[in-house]
Amino acid sequence: MAVPQGEETYRIRIARSAANGIGRGVQEFEVALEDRMTVLDALFRIQREQDASLSFRCACRVGMCGTCAMSVDGVPRLACKTGVRTLDARTVHIAPLPNLPVVKDLVISLEPFFDQWKRVQPKFRPRDPNSTELARIPETSAHARNTPGKRDCITCGACFAACGVKSTSGEYLGPAAINKAYLRLMDPRDTAVDARLAVLDDERAGVWRCHTQFNCTAVCPKSISLTDSIARLKRAMLFPRFEKL
Ligand code: SF4
Repeated sequence: MAVPQGEETYRIRIARSAANGIGRGVQEFEVALEDRMTVLDALFRIQREQDASLSFRCACRVGMCGTCAMSVDGVPRLACKTGVRTLDARTVHIAPLPNLPVVKDLVISLEPFFDQWKRVQPKFRPRDPNSTELARIPETSAHARNTPGKRDCITCGACFAACGVKSTSGEYLGPAAINKAYLRLMDPRDTAVDARLAVLDDERAGVWRCHTQFNCTAVCPKSISLTDSIARLKRAMLFPRFEKL
């Protein structure tokens, strides 16, 4: 079939699996794409024109929800924000995010991610437990100034998938949960300090498991410096006199 003007043919190799998550190998598709098309556009085109059974998730399509995170050429990325042209190769390898159970094809379950997230008590704990006030962080507050760019997590799971420690330790909290705990601990209005520190200090789950490999920081689509949050927590736990917790 002739390739329409303005489009070029790409080979898209996708790791497939059945509805029970059992792998069915890699399937290759040839797709004609325009310059500015994304990996998500390619998946939609395959689903529409070649294989309606291909499963993947997406929602906002503008990099705000984190739903379409998947492994593209071995790196966890948001499919909606990854232009095929930027990958600089005519063959693109797509697979589900590692370190998470596969539901079908590119769909993973984020349950293990949120199990760890819940362990650090992500909810704001005000002094008055009956307070109905929203936990707004005024932009001019010291808390806002001390945590720049760390509050934008979209819970996509990319850092969890890229973490080398997470790949060998199911108990490790993972970078996003630790960053969330860091934000709560740095908030002077929050009161659950001891409970959070107990989890963060846990030998098998906590911050000491991090080997400072920077994989999480490298893949975060919101450019959150996760390794920095973990390092700050380590320092604060070792030298509480110098860091506000
Ligand atoms: Fe995704 Fe970044 Fe949040 Fe990790 S910290 S879940 S990579 S947005």
